[in-house]
Amino acid sequence: MSVSLKDEIIQEVEKRRTFAIIAHPDAGKTTLTEKLLLFGGAIREAGSVKARKASRHATSDWMEIEKQRGISVTSSVMQFDYNGHRINILDTPGHQDFSEDTYRTLTAADCAVMLIDVAKGVEPQTIKLFQVCSQRGIPIFTFINKLDREGKNPFDLMEELERVLGIRSVPMNWPIGMGRDLCGVYDRMKNQVELFNGKDHSTIEVRKVDDYNDSIIREMAGDFLTDQLIADLELLDVAGDQFDLEKVSRGELTPVFFGSAVNNFGVQTFLENFLQLAPKPTPRKSEDGIIEPTSEKFTGYVFKIQANMNPAHRDRIAFLRICSGRFDRGMSVKHVRAGKDIKLSQPQQFLAQDRDIVESAYPGDIIGLFDPGIFRIGDSLSQGGNVVFNELPTFSPEIFAKVTIKNALKQKQYQKGIDQLTEEGTIQVFRTISFDDTILGVVGQLQFEVFEYRMRAEYGVEVQLQRMTYQFARWIIDDNIDPSKFRINSALVKDKKDNYVVLFENEYAMRTAMEKNPTAKFLDTAP
Ligand code: GDP
Repeated sequence: MSVSLKDEIIQEVEKRRTFAIIAHPDAGKTTLTEKLLLFGGAIREAGSVKARKASRHATSDWMEIEKQRGISVTSSVMQFDYNGHRINILDTPGHQDFSEDTYRTLTAADCAVMLIDVAKGVEPQTIKLFQVCSQRGIPIFTFINKLDREGKNPFDLMEELERVLGIRSVPMNWPIGMGRDLCGVYDRMKNQVELFNGKDHSTIEVRKVDDYNDSIIREMAGDFLTDQLIADLELLDVAGDQFDLEKVSRGELTPVFFGSAVNNFGVQTFLENFLQLAPKPTPRKSEDGIIEPTSEKFTGYVFKIQANMNPAHRDRIAFLRICSGRFDRGMSVKHVRAGKDIKLSQPQQFLAQDRDIVESAYPGDIIGLFDPGIFRIGDSLSQGGNVVFNELPTFSPEIFAKVTIKNALKQKQYQKGIDQLTEEGTIQVFRTISFDDTILGVVGQLQFEVFEYRMRAEYGVEVQLQRMTYQFARWIIDDNIDPSKFRINSALVKDKKDNYVVLFENEYAMRTAMEKNPTAKFLDTAP
């Protein structure tokens, strides 16, 4: 008996988990990703992801900046199977390569894994990425890494999560010792211990225990660590938060796991627990209400466009998150903004850097569509309908530069380039009221580099960027705006839709302006 399309979609949705790993550079994201892929058999050797990271410059396929810096400018997607699940990991680029794309990629994830270095705790980039996830109210799972090194006290780390990120935490396991004394972790959910062998850095055994004072722990860890463990666990039982899946689902409580990615310690337990607790592809909001993933009609939206993966061909790949239905290669769908039907004949999926052609895909999956220039970030595709998703928020720029053209004769191409790159979401553009200067706003320095590069490569225009001292942008809603009020450590500008925006040099200037204009509304992003 053949399975109906509906049942097939329900089954596939049930299997899927789509998430992003958020971390500050060096916390171990590449290492953890690699271990996860190894469990899924998606890569054969340890070191492949790492090698990819290091040898990117060797591949001719990536844009010049990537080659020069050996980084992935835009993030890719990795898919693997484990224990009947199909897992999509969205790779969010790290430090210098941070950009609005990083934030947008997070909208395509149904939950996030927050990776923290036990010695460093919550770091700046973790905070930024966390905030974007937190605004969406998605579940966040925490993996505290590098337990084989001396680090912060676990209670202090939990306190830090609450103080810095405002999220409560519930440890799913608890370290027995740390650094050179690391003996293992105590699994609070299953009442078992996973024992770590410090000599050859491996897991030696997973054992059920009767209680906290089990002899196996005492034998392995000695009296001092065992007594401390018992005291810690008893304190957690009495004073800690109870595990509560509802709260986890709403992103109010983060389950915390301790381990060591490079030693593959605690990673498998983490993966298994994570797969049980993480949400399957979630319903998504559209202009006409909620779209259930199990709806038979295919829908999705473009969250990222990767330009110039191959400079020789100028091809672009539009990354689409499938929200409902089944994707079949060659299917026709409506490109809602353009108001016409298009055929999806060349979709690609990305495992690491290899491109595979996909025949079918389901909600939660990400497909890369060949883009001859018809897509914009945020575009919705919908089968036999006009579903429009509003998943993509805009982000408040934090870095600003004045842009000028080097050769005035290229004015026309320059304007065209700015218009198109703004539309694509590469940069945000502002104009000063007084001199009609053009100011670019971004969230990551890399966006400037991509802008400069693409202006030169695609529009033949050399531009000059001059960094400005502004740090904040606020959109102002005020019936009687008075430009003279925004002069000190700030500048009044307009965005491309002629909304008033004030750029501030520091928080003090911003607060003062707010106090002086009590009737005006100051918004982080465009209204
Ligand atoms: P990313 O920048 O977040 O992708 O971090 P990497 O995965 O490249 O890791 C950064 C460094 O931390 C590398 O030298 C790793 O070998 C190291 N590392 C990763 N996990 C662990 C761990 O569990 N323990 C220790 N001691 N080092 C680790």
